[in-house]
Amino acid sequence: MEQVVIAGGGPTGLMLACELRLGGADPVVLERLAGPSGESRAGGIHARTMEVLDMRGMLEPFLAEGRRLPGGHFAGIPLDFSGLPTRYPFLLAILQRRIERLLEGRARDLGVRLRREVEVTGLHPTADHVEIETTEGELTAEYVVGCDGGRSTVRKLAGIDFPGTPATMTAVLGDVTLDAPPPGPVFQRRTPFGNWSVLNFEPGWYRVITNDFDTVADRDAPITVADLRASLERHAGTDFGLRDPRWISRYHDAARLAARYRAGRVLLAGDAAHIHYPAGGQGLNTGVQDAVNLGWKLAAVLRGDQDQTLLDTYEVERRPVAERVLENTRAQTALTRPDEHTSALRSVVTGLIAHGDVNRSLSSMIAALDVRYPLPEGAGHHVPDLDLPDGSRLFSHLHDARPVLLGDAAVPPHVRRVPYPGPPTLIRPDGHVAWVESLGAGALREAVDRWC
Ligand SMILES: Cc1cc2nc3c(=O)[nH]c(=O)nc-3n(C[C@H](O)[C@H](O)[C@H](O)COP(=O)(O)OP(=O)(O)OC[C@H]3O[C@@H](n4cnc5c(N)ncnc54)[C@H](O)[C@@H]3O)c2cc1C
Repeated sequence: MEQVVIAGGGPTGLMLACELRLGGADPVVLERLAGPSGESRAGGIHARTMEVLDMRGMLEPFLAEGRRLPGGHFAGIPLDFSGLPTRYPFLLAILQRRIERLLEGRARDLGVRLRREVEVTGLHPTADHVEIETTEGELTAEYVVGCDGGRSTVRKLAGIDFPGTPATMTAVLGDVTLDAPPPGPVFQRRTPFGNWSVLNFEPGWYRVITNDFDTVADRDAPITVADLRASLERHAGTDFGLRDPRWISRYHDAARLAARYRAGRVLLAGDAAHIHYPAGGQGLNTGVQDAVNLGWKLAAVLRGDQDQTLLDTYEVERRPVAERVLENTRAQTALTRPDEHTSALRSVVTGLIAHGDVNRSLSSMIAALDVRYPLPEGAGHHVPDLDLPDGSRLFSHLHDARPVLLGDAAVPPHVRRVPYPGPPTLIRPDGHVAWVESLGAGALREAVDRWC
């Protein structure tokens, strides 16, 4: 019997597999595609994702391949990330296919089994295992995690509802060469139909996006370069000499959140659990962070160190995070509608963002640095990457995903002790604070029992 079958080898499934390996588990990833999709989709990773990659000692190749941009945006209004409280106060522009390649390389280095051209088609959960039908035969596993994207088969087979708001607009995107591009790295305009933008992602090629409000096109209808050209001409009055598309896509702003993240031995993570308009570039980031919350917990349950109730904390902690992402992306879509009233609202919001506090608050939200899990007062937030007296960095002690006691207090030997002159703090494998001294010695014992 397999320990964990992960359906889907996208960013979430690959990161989850890596985390499970660190926790001593032996997951198998089933991916229906024969090779990487080649779809560009996500264009960047945010500070908290860089932090979690750093915590696992795997950030360097991402930094080497990406481009550091000073900020992101909220509904197209620039945000300055430079003051964020992190070692990575920037947006790292790096395409999803590169992210996936790096994650797959890391997963293979850790010994993850990735089986391609295998599609999950059926699930039969029982009390102590799950029977899985695939295009390559049947499997049995202790747990199944659906990381199989927005149209998740696992979610549907597990009977988990996916309520939310339907699409209100249509976006058309093309990664193309432009013979006569508009100036600058980012060029955007509002129009009577919605808006359009041209982003110079990498030397020599551009991402062109048009957004049309109040028309909802069929996402599954074929899309051609002629459609993209026609849409751009309608919005911008020119096609900028568009040619050689690498990827063309049509998507919209439906926003949906899984009613549950766990049904017995079946769990959901990433887009399988939440979809929304890609405003601010948060979907992949949220999925990777779901994986970092779930991986060590599921590994602890598989080792027999914890009972299954630990898995319930995954939904308790991560579902509200996704709910907030859905909310902010709906707000961003609302702020880009083409009417006069929205223009007035944008002007007010632009003025507010010019204030440092508003910029900081929105930037922290988009970069997911303000996520706090519902733990006792003083705990729940993530630790900053402190410089320690011995010259090491705190994150370097989290590479193998073990819990850490920073400073001095009574903990069992499997909790790594890291000398620190300040007040003691118990840190979970995902970098979130489980206990601080002010909570008292009794709370430390409870925190160790629950999280370590
Ligand atoms: C235009 C655009 C721009 C975006 N920009 C950003 C951005 O800048 N930043 C950001 O964070 N996010 C962005 N996103 C969102 C991001 O692309 C997704 O959130 C991310 O891909 C989700 O990762 P995932 O692994 O959860 O799902 P997916 O990437 O969808 O991966 C799911 C995988 O499961 C496989 N699969 C599906 N069904 C089965 C099955 N039954 N059996 C086996 N395998 C299966 C699929 O082939 C796929 O490989 C953007 C999205 C779009 C459309």
